[in-house]
This record gives sequence, structure tokens and C-alpha cells, in this order.
Amino acid sequence: MSRLPVNEIFETIQGEGQFTGMPAVFLRLQGCPVGCPWCDTRHTWEVEPEHQVDPERIIGVSGDRPIWAYYDEARLVALLTDGRYSARHLVITGGEPCLYDLTELTRLMHAAGWRCQIETSGCVEVRCDEQTWVTVSPKIGMKGGLTVLPQALERADEIKHPIATERHIEELDALLADQPLPRHPQICLQPISTKKRATQLAIDTCIKRNWRLSVQTHKYLEID
Ligand code: SF4
Repeated sequence: MSRLPVNEIFETIQGEGQFTGMPAVFLRLQGCPVGCPWCDTRHTWEVEPEHQVDPERIIGVSGDRPIWAYYDEARLVALLTDGRYSARHLVITGGEPCLYDLTELTRLMHAAGWRCQIETSGCVEVRCDEQTWVTVSPKIGMKGGLTVLPQALERADEIKHPIATERHIEELDALLADQPLPRHPQICLQPISTKKRATQLAIDTCIKRNWRLSVQTHKYLEID
């Protein structure tokens, strides 16, 4: 068993990527060293001791707060499977959830009949149960100075790339050149911050390349 710093747990609809529209429980872990300039969860970057709270305080209350609480896998699984949630799809996100070994948590959740999805930047080794759906949203050249790891790309079931300009597509091409992708991931482009120009560029490129468009439907719907 290990301890995971949890920022929040809440039930909603998955807004983006392969499982768009799927009812899901989001488990947001605290901590991220990647440093994306457009990050909309900056409150998850640091695991500050003064922001540690009682585990009960982070359940079901969504918000941009830097608080976190330690949970071990057994306690998390007991909470997630005690009947309070209808969804059977767990999205483990952050922050950067792959800072932590998620093998035991995903193994136990699969044994309980759930599907697990991890959303990661690809800048940290992915450790999870084999059945887990891994969404890598590669963060290239960010302020934190980390690089996208071949291990993360090889483990990806989906590569969901945030784009604003042509430069971001060129970066993705360079990243994937000669990179083995044994799981044949779906490649999606996702316009950054639902901007109009980025959305049109993503549409045009997806049509040209037979890739998939991922829009952040939760932002249009104004839900968490
Ligand atoms: S990887 Fe995610 S949480 Fe971390 S800085 Fe980038 S967008 Fe924010």
C-alpha cells in the first residue's frame, strides 16, 4: 500500500477524448512539475504540508483549492465502491497522476468491475494495471523542463494533443517520428482553451490526417 495525495473526488461526465459523454468519477491527485502556461489546475502543482486536510474534506466538493489529503489504495477503493457513485469509470487525473505508482489502485478498481483511465502529460513513467486506458496528452517544451518519455508514449491508448498553432502540430510530428506505438493509440487534437482559431486548425488537420477531434465539451457545458 502507498499513500496518494488526493485533491478532490467528484462525479461528472467525462468531457474530452475517447470517453466523452461517459459518466465518470474523477480522482484528482495533487502535485505537478510540468508547468504548462495555460494550465487550468494550477492549484494542484504543489503538495504543501500546510494545505493537508482531513480526508473527508475533499470528497464531492469540486473547486480550485490547493488542499489535499492522503488516502491509501484500500481506503480509496472502499470509498469509490461503497455505492455512493453510479459511474463505473474512474478518471485518475491531476496535477500529474503518474508521479505516483497507480498499479495497485487500478488493479483493485478493475477487480471491482470498474474501468480506469489515466490522464497524463507523458513526462513521468506510467505505472498502472495492464487493463488501464492511458491517455497521454504530451506536454512538449514546458517551463518545468521535463521531456515526454518514450515509455509513456509506448503505453498510450490515446494521444490527445493540445494545440493552438501549426507549431504544436509540428512538435507532435517530431515527437512521434520513429517512436514505436505498440498499442496503436488513437491520435486526437484538442484546441487549447476552446479558442476559435485553434478549433478550426484542429478540425482541418484531423480531416486531413484522419485523426480525431477532441473538444473540451465540459467547458462549453460549463460543468466541472
Ligand atoms: S501537466 Fe496538466 S496539471 Fe500539469 S501543468 Fe500541465 S496542464 Fe497543468
